[in-house]
Amino acid sequence: MIKLPAPPEALEHTRVREGEFWRDIPAYRDVNEATFLDHIWQGRHSVKSPEELFEAVKGLVDPAFIEDARDGFTRAPMAVRVSPYMIACIDWSQPYADPIRTQFIPLGSRLIPDHPRLTLDSLHELEDSPVPGLTHRYADKALFLPLNVCPVYCRFCTRSYAIGADTELVDKVPLATTPKQWQEAFDYIASRPELEDIVISGGDVYQLPAKSILTIGDALLAIPHIRRMRFATKGPAVMPMKILSDPAWTDAITAVVDKGRALGKEVAVHTHFNNPNEISWITRDAMTLLFSRGITVRNQSVLIRGVNDDPAVMQLLVKRLGYLNVHAYYVYMHDLVKGVEDLRTPIQTAIDVEKFVRGSTAGFNTPTFVCDAPGGGGKRDVHSFDHYDRENGIAVYSAPSVKPGKHFVYFDPIDTLAADAQRRWRHPAEAEAMIAEAIEKAGGPRSYVPA
Ligand SMILES: *Cc1c(COP(=O)(O)O)cnc(C)c1O
Ligand code: SF4
Repeated sequence: MIKLPAPPEALEHTRVREGEFWRDIPAYRDVNEATFLDHIWQGRHSVKSPEELFEAVKGLVDPAFIEDARDGFTRAPMAVRVSPYMIACIDWSQPYADPIRTQFIPLGSRLIPDHPRLTLDSLHELEDSPVPGLTHRYADKALFLPLNVCPVYCRFCTRSYAIGADTELVDKVPLATTPKQWQEAFDYIASRPELEDIVISGGDVYQLPAKSILTIGDALLAIPHIRRMRFATKGPAVMPMKILSDPAWTDAITAVVDKGRALGKEVAVHTHFNNPNEISWITRDAMTLLFSRGITVRNQSVLIRGVNDDPAVMQLLVKRLGYLNVHAYYVYMHDLVKGVEDLRTPIQTAIDVEKFVRGSTAGFNTPTFVCDAPGGGGKRDVHSFDHYDRENGIAVYSAPSVKPGKHFVYFDPIDTLAADAQRRWRHPAEAEAMIAEAIEKAGGPRSYVPA
């Protein structure tokens, strides 16, 4: 059968926002292109308080929205920091529904009670940490966290236990933020020949000065057994202009990539787009520059309610990323983070979205949907559960090559369950019994790691 020509909407992923779109925001009406593209200007004008938000969008939203945000700012576990670029990508005619607002600006009216089983460090990154700022969980790879600041703060951050300023609710744990602590991490890595692969995250390497990128890159490339490295940054999604207007930073990343290539080692950039509206002509120019330098960019999204849990939205994101030569690598289940239950989705949603997305584009641009098993089991394909009790929202995973002999459980958001199930979770004894039963059905009894 002959394939019918695609309708014009099928090319939606190729169309991104063009022109000086930021001028729609009252505070940026007189900002010219050179200024808007200046990463220093972006950093200085980031929105960190309800007052700054009000100043930026005065006239676009009603005062009730700002009051709602004020309430959200005080109750959130993460500090707030939103770049002007992100402010300009929000559709302020629908601020409650907007997917970018949802990620960065908490609203008191949208907060809902947490699942009773949530903790702050649900991935137990601190437990698998031999020295500060290093998580060694998998056989051949480790996660290095050299700083605790980011160009923006995401409401849903997995590392809300450590990232950003202390908030009214959370005192943060320090990561390895000094050169002496970095050296301890390098020494540990050098002492472990099985480590081939280092993820440099944080925080966000966008906030590292160029010379620190080179220091870290050189130190890790000099370790003979290191074969792969990735610099992880949300920057391309939230402040793409830095790649264009901070040549020292972009050149430092390029230098490490080139040096790695000369040594036969792969160095890539991993980024974090969540919604197709985050991508504009500025993103396209930035990704084109990285591509022209031979830099591989991969994307890791988080599946977020109201942001990308709609199959068509995720499909558009994946296709738009592929179009810009960014490989969609993972879509993560939202971690069991406190204070953002309104953002989580059930495991079933990931399964449904994945089914829709697979087949839309190249397989190597099609993400794997994973659940980073709470309690330190590592990433599991969402489909690989040993048992999934949809009624009570309990998925049970095991990870034979990471933590053999153990079971890990993920809990669907409490508000998505039927009233009866919600009631059972409120009784600790009933909750224990439900979890025990799910583990039994998963082929237990293995030891179970509490989330
Ligand atoms: C995600 C992660 C990695 C990298 O895992 P990949 O599946 O190779 O992307 C390494 N260490 C930790 C602790 C991680 O969470
Ligand atoms: S950029 Fe990454 S580390 Fe920083 S707040 Fe967002 S999710 Fe957390």
